[in-house]
Amino acid sequence: QAKRHGKNLVWLAQMEGLVPNNRRAQLEQDLLGALTRGEFSLHYQEQFGAQGERTGFEALTRWTSPQWGEVSPAEFIPISEESGAIVHLGAWVLTQATTQLAKWHAEGLTDAMMAVNVSPVQFLRPDFEDSVIAALQRAQLPPHALELKLTENFVASHLTIVAPRLKALRSMGVRIALDDFGAGASVLSQLLDLPLDTLKIDRSFLRQSGVPKAHRVMGAITAFARALNLEVVLEGVETPEHLVLAHKLGCDRTQGYLQGRPAPPEVIERRFSSSSQSG
Ligand code: C2E
Ligand code: MG
Ligand code: MG
Repeated sequence: QAKRHGKNLVWLAQMEGLVPNNRRAQLEQDLLGALTRGEFSLHYQEQFGAQGERTGFEALTRWTSPQWGEVSPAEFIPISEESGAIVHLGAWVLTQATTQLAKWHAEGLTDAMMAVNVSPVQFLRPDFEDSVIAALQRAQLPPHALELKLTENFVASHLTIVAPRLKALRSMGVRIALDDFGAGASVLSQLLDLPLDTLKIDRSFLRQSGVPKAHRVMGAITAFARALNLEVVLEGVETPEHLVLAHKLGCDRTQGYLQGRPAPPEVIERRFSSSSQSG
């Protein structure tokens, strides 16, 4: 009797745990086959220079599942990182994004860059560098057309492993961007010797825009980037006020819903042709 009661308790406890974990566990399962089923696609978001000229794009992965519909990368990327599925997904993203950029180069946007998010799990694989070289060669792109985005948090917390690998990539000519800057926990002095090109100010600062203190901190971040000779990108630019602020700060590039939401390549192409018609 007692034994049976105990079993029921275990079962109940499992149910308790299983209910909230269900979606996650099932997503994890589905993610493993999603790539071969062709359920992923890339959206692209344009980046603009201080004169409003298009400087390039960021590739952002989308998962359209027949079962779950559109799943946010904020949900499926961490799950893919845990299961290891991110390794194949990340390689696919690199191939896809460089192929797309090569096409756009051929259509006349010869200076455009492509920024790609790189997961720590993907970056730490010994063959990561080779996969980057292979993607660039297949697409016949110059290395400086590719910008790899790593979060400040990851870089700062794995500095001894990351630094030499960044040097190798950078010596090939690939650009390195520090993403979500200001939201991580780096000691600034640690960043001095890293081979970086770009610093992306975390979007959370813009959420507090209008607060003078947030502006001053963004000014300090920009000055820090200048001292290191880094380009500054402000992401999450949603309003004309944000754009004015970006210009006041002297940001080199901006990106956000104001200037263009992430969209499939054919929508992006329609934007090119309408902007070239209007001047
Ligand atoms: P992230 O790298 O910081 O990318 C910027 C996110 O901000 C994107 O969300 C983008 O759609 C969104 N965004 C752009 N402009 C605005 C704006 O004006 N306002 C607001 N509120 N948001 C804006 P998304 O596409 O949902 O991606 C979320 C995160 O998922 C990314 O953050 C990135 O960390 C990760 N992610 C997306 N695609 C990939 C990928 O291919 N590989 C890896 N490893 N991570 C990815
Ligand atoms: Mg990112
Ligand atoms: Mg970011």
